[in-house]
Amino acid sequence: MKMRRKSDLPTKICACCNRPFAWRRKWARDWDSVRFCSERCRREART
Ligand SMILES: [Zn+2]
Repeated sequence: MKMRRKSDLPTKICACCNRPFAWRRKWARDWDSVRFCSERCRREART
């Protein structure tokens, strides 16, 4: 098992800008469905 530190937050790669981004509290409920690092990327990906 991996040891988890407080600063060791899960990360993902943004589906829009391909940059890594870290878990945020506002995504606590739906982290599994988060694919973009920001509102901006989410909008751009839709257009
Ligand atoms: Zn992004």
